[in-house]
Formats: sequence, structure tokens, C-alpha cells
Amino acid sequence: MDHFTYKSGELCSETVPVSKIAAYVGTPFYLYSSATLLRHFKLFDDALEGMEHLVCYAMKAASNQAILKLLGDAGAGMDVVSGGEYKRARAAGVPGERIVFSGVGKTRAEMEMALTGGIRQFNVESEPEMKLLSTVATALDVIAPITIRVNPDVDAKTHAKISTGKKEDKFGIPISQAREVYATAAALPGIKIIGIDVHIGSQLTQLDPFGHAFEKVAELTEVLRSDGHEITRLDLGGGLGIPYENSNVRPPHPAEYGALIREKVGHLGCEIEIEPGRFIAGNAGILVSKVLYIKKGEEREFLIVDGAMNDLIRPAMYGAHHDIVPVVEPAAGAEYQKYDVVGPVCESGDTFAKRRSLPNLQAGDLIAFRSAGAYGAVMASEYNSRPLIPEVLVHGDQFAVIRARPSLEDMINRDTIPEWL
Ligand SMILES: *Cc1c(COP(=O)(O)O)cnc(C)c1O
Repeated sequence: MDHFTYKSGELCSETVPVSKIAAYVGTPFYLYSSATLLRHFKLFDDALEGMEHLVCYAMKAASNQAILKLLGDAGAGMDVVSGGEYKRARAAGVPGERIVFSGVGKTRAEMEMALTGGIRQFNVESEPEMKLLSTVATALDVIAPITIRVNPDVDAKTHAKISTGKKEDKFGIPISQAREVYATAAALPGIKIIGIDVHIGSQLTQLDPFGHAFEKVAELTEVLRSDGHEITRLDLGGGLGIPYENSNVRPPHPAEYGALIREKVGHLGCEIEIEPGRFIAGNAGILVSKVLYIKKGEEREFLIVDGAMNDLIRPAMYGAHHDIVPVVEPAAGAEYQKYDVVGPVCESGDTFAKRRSLPNLQAGDLIAFRSAGAYGAVMASEYNSRPLIPEVLVHGDQFAVIRARPSLEDMINRDTIPEWL
């Protein structure tokens, strides 16, 4: 469920007409609904009720500080994967004790930043990282709380580029080596083991892979405890998928996911952390774009819009589907036709959809790409010297620009021409 629906024939975000925002900020732009973001966070928080837990939003999905503040104020923690994300989370008012630091390649500077600024835990992914963290913490005269990310060798049954829990993936330590690696960690002076971390991939549409991974984590918890380690926290990662298409295939509901967590690891008495990103932000955002031209090819009709692959790369990168809807609600009995929906970038990959059925459209009409809230704005680039597009947040009947569109001068003035040229 989301808060982008037609009201009196116009697509609205909560109660604000999308066309009104478009007139104010220009197209293309990203638009988020506060109510949807909060609703999704709460579904996870409620799903874990009764167990000690923290829902750490994986902010790489959509990291505007306004979104972080909205979720942080509602009680969310954050899962960060870089020093930049750590700084953003702190700038948005999220306290260090609610921030977990994930990622395979943390640098010394990032470790120092988090250790001095305050951190809930590091999710460590390798022995060399663990050793460096111990050294850095010792030099700062602090102890770094850690979990170790294990790779359970489970097939997440998702797109290869976002599968992270198979043994050929770069993430975590093989679960078969966990006992040795935990023993090594226990002997290091600057770190303290508090738990286990696992994250097997993104856009999972079935519960089974989670179930297999959580079972392996539960077994490992008992083994490590028998080895004398104190395992008090389990970070079970993110990855729950969302419906991108209006179809019968429905990914599991957070309540089912929560019930699975309770079933598989509830008996261990551990504090539970989860790191949902896509589920919270994905259907809480749309990309609004304007039709520039309609071009008739020999076999196809192209809808050329002002948004492009640099603004939303998911279709080009993952072959991803986004539902596309007109901002003006099609009248009953409206005529439909098939369009190839493309952007202005000089690559054939700049195609959002092929032969997509849409009501007849004209130059100047607004369209919305649904489910664009996660891995949309954050993956945008300035390819073709197209400035990053604005982000807007709606809350009830109000809206605010939460990242302004830079001027062309802002963009080009970041280059410097050496004086010897
Ligand atoms: C990307 C990522 C997440 C979030 O995944 P979603 O599919 O967006 O829920 C959580 N944890 C880690 C370690 C990640 O890399």
C-alpha cells in the first residue's frame, strides 16, 4: 500500500496533486510520501514486537537527510556503508548508538570517524578488517563492538547483481570458517564480539532463503556460545522485496517475515536487528517526468521523456520494471497504445520500458514511474551533464523540496581548469 493515488482525476501524493509540485519544482523530480515511509517502517517495528529489537533502515536505498530525520524521529536506527552515510545519518540527528556500520571495505578513516562519533556496532566482513579495527580502536583507547558477517551459502533467488549470500559472492566470511574467525576475533584487544550478522541479498520475493539463512545463524549461535562467546545480538540484514508490478506475485508481508524471525531465532534470547532498505523506501517514492516528444519509428512509437537513465538507472542496470502511470487519470474507455518509453541520453540502454501499454499521451503530459523511491535518486549521476534532479517530500497537504536542482553553473563550476592550460 502506498500514498500515490488518483483523487478527482489527478495523481496525488497523500493529498497534494503531483501536477502542483511539478509546476513548482519543474520536471523531472523524485517525490516521496512521508506517510508511506513511516507506514513501512512501522510494519517492521510491529512485526518484531515483543522481542528486543531495532529496525536499522539501510539508508543506501534513499539517503536524503529529510528521509533519515523522518525515520530517525520515529525510532529507526540506520545501517550505513560509508563514512559519507555515517555523516549524513548523524547530520540528520540519528544518534551513534543507533547506527550500525556495514560494508566489505571500511577504511581506517571511516573506522576512526565512527569510533569517535559513536557507533552501535561494526558488522565486520573479513579477518584483515577485524585486525585493522582492533588496531584503530586500541589507538583511540576504545573498544569496538562487533558482529561478524557470515556468508551462509544460501541462494537468495534474486537478481545476480544483488545476491550477496552465496559462497562466490564477496560478502562476509564463509560460515564454515566461523569458529576459527570468532576465535581470532576474541583474542584481539580492541574489539568485543557481541553477535552475528547475515544479509543474503536484495529484492527477495520468497521467505525460504531467509528461513535457511536464519536457521544457519541459529545453529551458529549455539556453537559459538558453546565455544565461550557471548552472542547477544543477531543482525539479520535486509532484503525483503517489494511488488514492482501490479501482478499476482506478492512478496511476503513484514508480519510474515517477523513471524519467521521469531520462529527461527526467537528462542535464543538475542536482541534482533534488521536492515530493510528497499521495502521502506521503494514504494514511498515516484519519479515524475514530462513527455517531450512522441516519435513514430518504423515499427514502434517512442515516448521521449525528460527523465533518463542517469536519473533512474534500474531499468538499464538490472532490466528492472517500473510501472508507469499518467499523472492525469485516464478517462473510462480511454484508448491505449504501446510505447517504448525512452530518455534523452545517448545510449540505447536509456530505455525505461518497451512496448508498454499506456493511454494516448501528448507532448507536455506528465507521467510517473512508480516504485522509484529506493535505489533511484541515490544511484543517479550527471551523465550527459544532466544535473541531479530534485527531491521533494510530501507530508499530508504540505510539500517541501528536500534537495534542490543545481543550476548548470553549479554543476560545471565544480571542474577546475589548470592554469597551465
Ligand atoms: C543493501 C543492504 C541492505 C538493504 O537491502 P534491501 O534489499 O534494500 O532491504 C541491508 N544490509 C546490507 C548489509 C546491505 O548491503
